Amino acid sequence: MGQTITEKILGDHLVEGELTPGEEIGIEIDQVLTQDTTGTMVWLQFEALDLDEVQTELAAQYCDHQTYQFDFKNTDDHRFLRSAAGTYGAYFSRPGNGICHQVHKENFAAPGKTLLGSDSHTPTPGGLGELAIGAGGLDIAVAMGGGPYYVEMPEVVNVHLEGELPEWATAKDVALHLLGELTVKGGVGKIFEYTGPGAEKLSIPERTTITNLGTELGATSSIFATDEKTKDWLARQDREEEHVDLQPDDDAEYAETIEVDLGELEPLVAAPSMPDNVAPVSEYEGTDVEQVIIGSCTNGAYEDILPSAKMLEGREVNKGTEMIVAPGSKQASEMLAREGWTAEMMAAGVNFSEATCGACIGIGHVPASDSVSLRTFNRNFEGRSGIEDDSVFLCSPEVATAAAITGKIVDPRDLAADLGDLEAPGLEMGTKYGPGMGQDDADIISPDEAIDDGLVKGPNIGDVPLKDGIDVDGGEALLKMKDNITTDHIIPATADILKFRSNIEKLSEFTLSRVDDTFAQRALDADGGVLVAGENYGQGSSREHAALCPMYLGIEAVFAQSFARIHKANLFNFGIVPLAIDAETYEKIEQGDDLEIVDDVPAGVSSGQEEFTVSVNGEWEFTADLDASEREREILSAGGKLSWVKQQHVDD
Ligand code: SF4
Repeated sequence: MGQTITEKILGDHLVEGELTPGEEIGIEIDQVLTQDTTGTMVWLQFEALDLDEVQTELAAQYCDHQTYQFDFKNTDDHRFLRSAAGTYGAYFSRPGNGICHQVHKENFAAPGKTLLGSDSHTPTPGGLGELAIGAGGLDIAVAMGGGPYYVEMPEVVNVHLEGELPEWATAKDVALHLLGELTVKGGVGKIFEYTGPGAEKLSIPERTTITNLGTELGATSSIFATDEKTKDWLARQDREEEHVDLQPDDDAEYAETIEVDLGELEPLVAAPSMPDNVAPVSEYEGTDVEQVIIGSCTNGAYEDILPSAKMLEGREVNKGTEMIVAPGSKQASEMLAREGWTAEMMAAGVNFSEATCGACIGIGHVPASDSVSLRTFNRNFEGRSGIEDDSVFLCSPEVATAAAITGKIVDPRDLAADLGDLEAPGLEMGTKYGPGMGQDDADIISPDEAIDDGLVKGPNIGDVPLKDGIDVDGGEALLKMKDNITTDHIIPATADILKFRSNIEKLSEFTLSRVDDTFAQRALDADGGVLVAGENYGQGSSREHAALCPMYLGIEAVFAQSFARIHKANLFNFGIVPLAIDAETYEKIEQGDDLEIVDDVPAGVSSGQEEFTVSVNGEWEFTADLDASEREREILSAGGKLSWVKQQHVDD
């Protein structure tokens, strides 16, 4: 039987298990990436493994999420990351050089390789044929130590693209269309493989916009076949020799095929406050817009900003609207500057930000109260922009720029008809700059160029909390939460909180503060307890602090109707038991109830027990399910992955 692209790459990297959907497999990892909010813990955990150097082909540390240096803490973190990269043999990308996914795509991502990253949008270079997966920081530390990455073998879904995008419809609209159809849970346990004549017509930046947004579908990864376009793009990055031909076999079998006719697509938005709240732009036409931001790892490439620059030629940003461009990488900034587009956009009224995540996680450019912001980002969860009552729409750079020109949401096709001289910008590349792309070597420190001597830890760098063994019997339901609680709800990513990411004792004070600001103190006073949640608990960022801080506060178990993939793995990694409950049980449990797990949990976890009986206030009982592989049970029994790995080394 023929193979899919996914099966070919996984087959080449398989060290344990079989490629049967639903079965746990162990795969060898070629490359890892970490960013600054997750990286400090990754390196502290790597240090705890007592290894001399990174064992993967390549490791890269980026400084992108928080590049504004308010006080010494963030700068200390960046210095620590530089020292760790140098000490252990990783590349270090300096603050301001760009967002990890953009910079990794430009410099290191390669077809046929496996990439594991401590960021949920790690699958972005799938557009180049790399099989890239987001995971918790501890999984990255273990992979860097040469350990396999374990994941349930996903189903491989074929998204077959026909036709060609019409004028003003973009790759962003392909991804938004799928989100509207499939929802944020539609890709759970799946890898999306994009094929067909429509896929061949898309440029590499267009493909990576789509693979980036696969994360919003909940997908494990997304990938495109490689072709001449891939080869040409790699050549522009001076990396043509890294191209490999990667195609599914003609008789490859997919779990499912989704047909999309690109020719039928139109400009879309994801309305507040979920990426799958998708509608045609025309439904919101006329809505006042106070802010427009173009950038992020989704639409921050040179080729994403160029259409906006072309649309603004000879025009101005509406006086009542602020327009910000935050390029995804310094390479993008450099190319725009060299070609003169930066000056032209500035003259039109655009403000440029440095190449950083920034506004995407509420650090800078927070919208005004009771206002609409149009962003080319990938997430518009409530409060993510930095204020609770935000109203953020996600859209393409073209739709964002049309709004910047008019001050209102407008379908760019209607704007073009009104103005008469506004042409669909298209994507011809580098007309002024030549065929190559700018290089950012100056901002990447290779392992050979390391400038630190050993790890440099300032006063904000704490210790990694370690748990030894499992001691779980339930406790007070300290908090009952709704559906779709994100890791941003659990540990907010705003600058005032994120600066404590290397200091778990301090950071844990903010745990779930967006849901209930008394929670952390109540958990400490109660000496631990359990959490209750609805569907899709822990969606969003891969931030392992969302499991680490509850563990520090003594949370023993989370009862939820369902869990997001990376967060569930993080719960195992930090010794918290994820237990699934049905909707009826969820409705019946009340905050403050005493949930006593009647069965012996440590014995049940190690013996493979799948159902646990829980008594509520000694008055009624329900059954909760533990869906865990043998390895995940071993990790839980050890008290978490770090203890488990250390035990394995001792046993060896
Ligand atoms: Fe950065 Fe936003 Fe992309 Fe995350 S989603 S990597 S915060 S730009």
